[in-house]
Amino acid sequence: MAKTLSIDGKRLYSSLARLGKVGAYKDETAGVIGVNRLALTAADGEGRRLVTKWFREAGLRVTVDKIGNVYGRRRGREDHLAPVMLGSHIDSVPTAGRFDGCLGVLGALEAVRTLNDVKAATRRPLVVAYFTDEEGCRFGTDMLGSAVATRRLPLERAYALKDRDGLTVKGELKKIGFLGHEPVGRLRPHAYLECHIEQGPTLRHKRRDVGVVLGVQAISWAELTITGKSAHAGTTPMSFRRDAGLTASRLNAALREMTLSGRYGRDMRAAMGMIRLTPNMVNVVPGRAVCTVDLRNPSDALMAKAEADFARLCRKVADQDGLAVASRRTAKTPHVPFDESVQALIADRADRLGLSHEPILSGAGHDAQEWSRVCKTAMVFVPGERDGISHNPREFSTLKQCADGVNVLLGAALVLAEEA
Ligand SMILES: [Zn+2]
Repeated sequence: MAKTLSIDGKRLYSSLARLGKVGAYKDETAGVIGVNRLALTAADGEGRRLVTKWFREAGLRVTVDKIGNVYGRRRGREDHLAPVMLGSHIDSVPTAGRFDGCLGVLGALEAVRTLNDVKAATRRPLVVAYFTDEEGCRFGTDMLGSAVATRRLPLERAYALKDRDGLTVKGELKKIGFLGHEPVGRLRPHAYLECHIEQGPTLRHKRRDVGVVLGVQAISWAELTITGKSAHAGTTPMSFRRDAGLTASRLNAALREMTLSGRYGRDMRAAMGMIRLTPNMVNVVPGRAVCTVDLRNPSDALMAKAEADFARLCRKVADQDGLAVASRRTAKTPHVPFDESVQALIADRADRLGLSHEPILSGAGHDAQEWSRVCKTAMVFVPGERDGISHNPREFSTLKQCADGVNVLLGAALVLAEEA
């Protein structure tokens, strides 16, 4: 069964297109239709209701936990055994395409639909899941739902997180109708698998059908608050200014130099993705800047060195510019290696399907890294066109690329679901 069963790529692709209509907007910069389903907004609620309806139509028993993660369960022949869980997320950044996260959720759903079509039973139950606020760009903590479900983050702390307008996770979950009752922190799957777009150029350039993900690099997020003094842009002599915007720019430029210096290995990456100036006016020297720093490195030791050096740099630049720089850590995850036996299984299933594959380290954070603490876990990557651009409406993977990845996911899931 595992050798020959193959999903309906068209059905998968049309589900991706349908979900992509929820939160759709005309992106003026990219010139195409984008998706905005920021976590726990009305659009996220609408997407959740659609996918949950599809779960039920596929015969899955749906439960929602206290952090709003949604699980659809398919019975196993030995239903008391721990399930094999397949999942990802359907929330998005405000300028997204239709594949990030959704491929993993709708791919898992397609795997279940395929099993239903041929009335195939698995020994272990299967669970298809989507997790709350993977992206983290609204409440500042990514992989929120899976971090709570796997006990890295206490529920009450997650509930209290606020967005820019002071709205809390708990209040917003309630508002969209996804504040569930299932307790968190108890689910112990037999294994967790996630299919996701690569979000980078490597697989496409190497002409590989799928990627076997080795693990996720270390990620460190901080928020800097730079406090200077607002002043008239015309009357204040340059030497009198304490320009928070200038300090933010200097730190951003210094961060890039640090990254390219080679002192933190060849794969160090950094970005200052947000700089918010106050009062943000053409004729006012900004008195305050709040900016985010995103650091990535495959080595925990080199990451620690980069964090320490950047903190020192912040103090030095603050001294030079005569203003205060306060830093607050908003997220931190170490390098996470995935289970080698599951990686080997994924490679084997790809071979059997005649698909080429490549081991690859994930540059982005994923729900899988959270689940890897509680059960054996690995991921399948799908290549993307246009240099694998992602977090952008131009994000695109072909029907075949998506179907190949989901066929590997299904093949691996079937083997894991027969394990004792
Ligand atoms: Zn994602």
